[in-house]
Amino acid sequence: ATPTALMVGTGRGAQLGILIKGPEVLESTRRVDTVVLDKTGTVTTGRMTLLDVAVASGEDVNEVLRLAGALENASEHPIAQAIAAGAAQRTGQLPSVEGFTNIEGLGVQGVVDGHAVLVGRVRLFADWAQQMPADLQLAKAAAEEEGRTAVVVGWDGAARGVLVVADAIKPTSAQAIRQFRDLGLTPILLTGDNETVARSVAQQVGIDEVFAEVLPQDKVDVVKRLQDQGKVVAMVGDGVNDAAALAQADLGLAMGTGTDVAIEASDLTLVRGDLRAAADAIRLARKTLSTIK
Ligand code: ADP
Ligand code: MG
Repeated sequence: ATPTALMVGTGRGAQLGILIKGPEVLESTRRVDTVVLDKTGTVTTGRMTLLDVAVASGEDVNEVLRLAGALENASEHPIAQAIAAGAAQRTGQLPSVEGFTNIEGLGVQGVVDGHAVLVGRVRLFADWAQQMPADLQLAKAAAEEEGRTAVVVGWDGAARGVLVVADAIKPTSAQAIRQFRDLGLTPILLTGDNETVARSVAQQVGIDEVFAEVLPQDKVDVVKRLQDQGKVVAMVGDGVNDAAALAQADLGLAMGTGTDVAIEASDLTLVRGDLRAAADAIRLARKTLSTIK
């Protein structure tokens, strides 16, 4: 392969909205047979909105919103921002937080109005003596059945509410996944979100294989395991929690709409955050290299 011909390929990439780190990237792009896709912010827009609030009997909706919103106001997670915005809209100004801690891939904790508050996945509440009330479990299951994300709110040892947030699937995702299949690639969904939500999103965009409830530090192991099985893996992601997996993959593709950390860890950047550009990149790499040979 002559450097000049490869540079032509990368120039065409820029026109398609794909930024390529260097011409050597085209070779691994051509060999890829598996595409691992992060869910939030990659297959979906990542712009979540607060849709619904369910509270345990005896609890006050506004209080659940106020304490959860105050805590989430300190977090940059898309789920957190949706909850903070929705809570502020319904309850007015949110109180301040002390001792805010982000528990990567699980949720957040802190002290609001003298209460020790937790917001996040059920696993966060594992140490609490009291079981999650049945009405909350039902509300959570119903939301997840529809592909929505339900997070639990609790304080001072008891789960008190469930907040339902939803994140729209990008209108171009299903088409991009058909294009991956046309190129002979196997799409796989990888997410920290729970199994039911992940399956529902996967089904809506045409993905059969799903790795759900994967903690941020374990995403890289999923990529390694696929590589151990002889797969040549492209990983597409947007978040800080995807960076290690993006670096480990044979080809890392970052959403241009994502975090700088993800972009830095990647070989290619999809400028517009449109997944179809990933299929374009692979098609382009194959064509560029076949004209050189
Ligand atoms: P993804 O892999 O889909 O980008 P993350 O690894 O960031 O998701 O988060 C996994 C799950 O942890 C979320 O679906 C949510 O249930 C929970 N979670 C993480 N951060 C928060 C937060 N700030 N507030 C509420 N829930 C959270
Ligand atoms: Mg993400």
